[in-house]
Amino acid sequence: MFTGKLWPVHPHPYQDELLSSWLVRIAHANGEKVQSFCHHEFGQKHQIWNRDIDRLAPDWLLTKLCEKTATPIERVRQTTLKRYEGILFDHTALSGVEKWITPLRIYHRTRKSHGLQFCPECLKEGNEPYFRTQWRIAFHTFCPKHNVMMHDRCPCCGEPVVFQRIELGKGNEETACDKPLSTCFNCGFDLADSKPEKAIFWNNDTSARWGQLLSGIQENKLTRYQSEQLAVLHQFVKLLCSKVVSEKLFDFMESKFRMVLERPNFGLRHFEANDIIRRFGIIQCAWWLLSEWPNNLKGAWLDGAVRYNHLLKDFDGMPDWYLREVGNMNINYKRREMLKTLLMNTNTSEKK
Ligand SMILES: [Zn+2]
Ligand SMILES: [Zn+2]
Repeated sequence: MFTGKLWPVHPHPYQDELLSSWLVRIAHANGEKVQSFCHHEFGQKHQIWNRDIDRLAPDWLLTKLCEKTATPIERVRQTTLKRYEGILFDHTALSGVEKWITPLRIYHRTRKSHGLQFCPECLKEGNEPYFRTQWRIAFHTFCPKHNVMMHDRCPCCGEPVVFQRIELGKGNEETACDKPLSTCFNCGFDLADSKPEKAIFWNNDTSARWGQLLSGIQENKLTRYQSEQLAVLHQFVKLLCSKVVSEKLFDFMESKFRMVLERPNFGLRHFEANDIIRRFGIIQCAWWLLSEWPNNLKGAWLDGAVRYNHLLKDFDGMPDWYLREVGNMNINYKRREMLKTLLMNTNTSEKK
């Protein structure tokens, strides 16, 4: 155990660094494996890695990090996902899946889902690779800085990113502590060398608005309208992942876009738990429904791809402009068909 007021080496968090990434760097900078470091410094009683510490960091851990690294407590708190409270979700839930946050599903410290994403280009920047808080946002499927797709697994072996396990049972302490955080714990591949793939959007307008939302989230500068957009997008991604609604909506979109779309994994229940490729597609569908408001959504509804009650289901705090349009959709099948025919006739006569 280090007895000084500060740890002998006490790096501060990098810009937007995740708590877990920072903690592993501190241990390694002090020449210790992270498991031994945590045992010495926090005691055997205090288990850390059996939970998602970036989401549910205990206060004692934050206080200790603040004291031992001389970092202001407010800065320490910014390394946790609680920084998105009030932006992406209302209150930190102690269990279950948090809105817009990718789950890790930790069982006995073995990670089962690919919740930690990374941009290989960002990993190459700065003094050393580290992981960012924004990479746990389920909406962050591409890097707006480099315009490349994020990754959610090692391209060589397919295992998720678990940098606190880089050192487990592999070699002596010196070698383990020397490895960069971007090393795959399973096969040793350097994740920074993953092939960057350009993010391809169905629509340029979407990419611009999506990028603006991401930076607004990161800087906590969302306008009221952007927050409302985010709420509606979440309602749409929920519907697109709901077994009851999804099939019709996807069929409708496929006929609109004339392309085959990857369906969500229904075994996972939550949008947030889907892999990155699926999430990227689902969010693009959601953006489409929101585009040319309210025409695209209305088209889907007229086609019978989505119903009035689904659009309102479990949607707390929906914006007025959404409720106003969806409210008009509360009519029976017969009247909807009449409207559809009327609209089709208008379109045909306009074309003449
Ligand atoms: Zn990047
Ligand atoms: Zn690997």
